[in-house]
Amino acid sequence: MYPMRHTRLKPEIPVLAPQQRAGVLLPLPLAGAYDYKLPVGVNAARGALVAAPLGNRESLGVVWGAAEGTVGDNRLKIAEPLEGAPSLPSSLCDFIDWVAAYTLNPPGAILAMALRSRQAFEPETRRIAYVKGDLVPSRLSEARKRVLAVAEDGLARSVAGLAEDANVSPAVVRGLIAARALKTTDLPEFQPFATPDPDFTVRDLGADQAQAAVALTDAVARGNFSASLLDGVTGSGKTEVYFEAVAEALRRDRQILILLPEIALTMQFLERFAARFGVKPAEWHSDLTQKERRRTYRAVMRGEARVVVGARSSLFLPFTELGLIIVDEEHEQAFKQQDGAVYHARDMAVVRARIEDCPIILSSATPSLESHANAINGRYVHLTLPARHGAAAMPAVRIVDMRQEKSLDENSKWLSQPLRDAITQTLAAGEQAMLFLNRRGYAPLTLCGACGHKLTCPSCSAWLVEHRYKKRLACHQCGYEIAAPQTCPGCSATGTLLACGPGVERVAEEFAHFFPQARYAIASSDTIQMPPHTGPLETQGPLRAMAKGDIDVLIGTQIMAKGHHFPNLTLVGVVDADLGGSDGDLRARERTFQLLHQVSGRAGRAEKPGLVLLQTRNPADAVMQALARGDRDGFYAQESEFRQRAGAPPYGRLAAIIVSGYDGDAVREIARQLGKAAPAAKDVKVWGPTPAFYALLRGQTRERLLVQAAKGVDVQAYLKAWLALVKIPNSVRATVDVDPISFF
Ligand SMILES: [Zn+2]
Ligand SMILES: [Zn+2]
Repeated sequence: MYPMRHTRLKPEIPVLAPQQRAGVLLPLPLAGAYDYKLPVGVNAARGALVAAPLGNRESLGVVWGAAEGTVGDNRLKIAEPLEGAPSLPSSLCDFIDWVAAYTLNPPGAILAMALRSRQAFEPETRRIAYVKGDLVPSRLSEARKRVLAVAEDGLARSVAGLAEDANVSPAVVRGLIAARALKTTDLPEFQPFATPDPDFTVRDLGADQAQAAVALTDAVARGNFSASLLDGVTGSGKTEVYFEAVAEALRRDRQILILLPEIALTMQFLERFAARFGVKPAEWHSDLTQKERRRTYRAVMRGEARVVVGARSSLFLPFTELGLIIVDEEHEQAFKQQDGAVYHARDMAVVRARIEDCPIILSSATPSLESHANAINGRYVHLTLPARHGAAAMPAVRIVDMRQEKSLDENSKWLSQPLRDAITQTLAAGEQAMLFLNRRGYAPLTLCGACGHKLTCPSCSAWLVEHRYKKRLACHQCGYEIAAPQTCPGCSATGTLLACGPGVERVAEEFAHFFPQARYAIASSDTIQMPPHTGPLETQGPLRAMAKGDIDVLIGTQIMAKGHHFPNLTLVGVVDADLGGSDGDLRARERTFQLLHQVSGRAGRAEKPGLVLLQTRNPADAVMQALARGDRDGFYAQESEFRQRAGAPPYGRLAAIIVSGYDGDAVREIARQLGKAAPAAKDVKVWGPTPAFYALLRGQTRERLLVQAAKGVDVQAYLKAWLALVKIPNSVRATVDVDPISFF
C-alpha cells in the first residue's frame, strides 16, 4: 500500500448526524468501487480524493459515485478527505470508466495510471529564501557590502545563491541573517512553468500547409469534438502545420496535449517547440524523476502547465481545460501498451477528445489503415500534404533482386554490387548514406556446425543474439545475457559455433571491408560500444554525428527512421527489405510498408535528389512494388481490399485472450478449457488455443485464443460472458487484448 503522509482534516463527527456514504474507487485491480462513510460536510462529489482504510493499511482513493448500499453503516469504514488536494476532473473519471469498459480492465487498474504521481496530492513544501532586511549593521565589511548590494534588487535567494552572486562565503550571509540585515521569506516548492507564446515566431507556410493549418485552427476555434488526419509525405512540414493549431488553442487559453510514440524523439521535439513558442513545454514520460512528476502533475491539474508533450501515459493526466490533443506518428505501434492494462493510446486519445469535447489531430506520413479508412469514409477530416516543403523532391526507389545478385559470395554476403556502386558514387560526391537493417547486434542466431545445437534463451522461446563488440549473447525479449561461449553447449566441440544471418554490426563489418576509408557509425537502441576507431558513443551520438557531417555513413535500425534531419543524406540502402514481412501477422505488410516508407523518406530531404535501394528476394511483392512506384495510395487500396475480404480490422473486429503463467501444464489446461467453453454466437469465430509466437517468455508459458467478429458485434459482452464460464486459478493469468495489433 502507498505510504500516506497527509495532514488530514480531523473529522468532527457529531454523534447524531447522518453519515454520508459514497462509492470510493481505489487504484488497485479490484472489481469496482467500495462503499465508505465520509465525514459530514466534506466534498463527496465524484473525483474528490480521500484516504481510505483498506484492511489494516490505507490507500489513496477517489469518490466515484453513490454507495451500493448493501452493507450496514456500522460496518463501513470512514474515508477521510485529503486536505488541500484538488479533485480529479469529472471528465477524467468518465474517461477512466470508458477505458476500463472497453479494454475489460478493472476501473481501479486504469485509475492507477491516472494517479501515477501520488505525491502530487501532498501539501506543497515552501522553500526558505532571504531578502534585504530592515536593519543595517553598524560595521560593514567589503564582503557584507557586496551581499547587501546584491540583495538590493529585492529578489529572494537562498544562502548559497546569495553567497554565489556576491562572491562571498556562506558564513558572511549567515552573519547578516543573524544581524537581521537579511530576513526570511518563502518561495513556492516548484518553479512555475513558463507560458508558451503563440506568436513567438511565425513561420512561412507553403500553400498546402497554410490550407491545412486554416482547417485545423478553425476546428480549434469551434472548440467541440472533431478528428482530423494530417496525412503528409515525409518532409512536408506536418509539425509546423499542427503548431498553428497549438498556437490557436494557446490564444484561446486551452491546455494542449501532444503525444509522441517514443521518449527518444522528445528531446529534439522540445527544442523544436521552444524555437516556435519561446519556451519548452512540460514533459511527461517514464524517464522523469518523482519530483518532476509531482511538479508536472500538479501544474497540469491546476491549469498552470499549458502544453504537455508526453508518451502514452500522459493521456491519463488530470487536465482541467483540455482544448486540443495531437497524436504524432499516429501509426506507431509504440502507442499500444502491452504490459499491465492493455490499451492503444491513439484510439483512447480519440475517446478522451470526445469526452472532453475538443478537437484531435492524428499526424502521419503513413497512417494506420484504421485512421486512413476513417479519413476516406469521412469520419475524420482528411488533410493531405502531397508535396515536400521547399525544393526537396521524393527520392527515387529502385529494387535490387537479391536472387539475381551474382556478386554475393563468402566475402560479400549482405551488400550487393548495385548498392556498393551507389555508396561509392555518394561518397565521391561528398554526400551521406544510410544502411538500414532492423536487427540489432551481430547475428540473430548462433548455431553449432557439428551438432546443430542452437543457442536459445532459457526463459524465452527466442534465439540469443550475438553482440560481437560486447562479446556477449543476449535475449532481446528478457535481457538474459551470457559471455559468448568458446565451446558448443550441446556437444562440447570447440570452434564449431557459427554466426547465422546479419545484424547491423555484421553489416558494418562488411561495409568496413569494402570502404576502409569511410567514416561510419552504428545506430541502434543498444549502441554501447562502437568499433575501436570510433570510440564509445551513446545512442543519440551517431545520429548527431551524422547530422553534423562528422561521419559519412550511418548503419542502423529503425532508430534512424525518424526525427533528425540530415540535409546531406542522399542514399538509403535497405539491406533486407523482406525482414518482418513474413511472420504471418495480419499487420506485417502494413508495418513493413510504413517502416520502409519512413526510412526511404530520409533520403534527399534538401535540395539534392535522393535514391533508395531495396534489397529483396521478393521483388514482385505488393509492398516492394508500391514502394518502387511511389504508389502509397495504391498500397492502401490493395491492403484495404485484402482486409475487407478477410473480415479483418478495420472491417471486422479482433480480440485476443493470452493465457500465461509459470506452470506450463496449468496454462495449457486453462487455455484448453477456455477453447471448449467459447460460446456460440452469430458472426463470431474463435481460433485456438495455440502456443503464442513467444510460447515461452520470461519463464512464462503463453497460449493464445483469438476472437474474430463482425463489425457490429459487442465483443466486450461476448468476452465477459465467455470468461465467466471458466474458473481461472491464481497461478494463471488471462489477459484480454481488445483490438490486438500483433500476435506475439
Ligand atoms: Zn555442437
Ligand atoms: Zn529471454
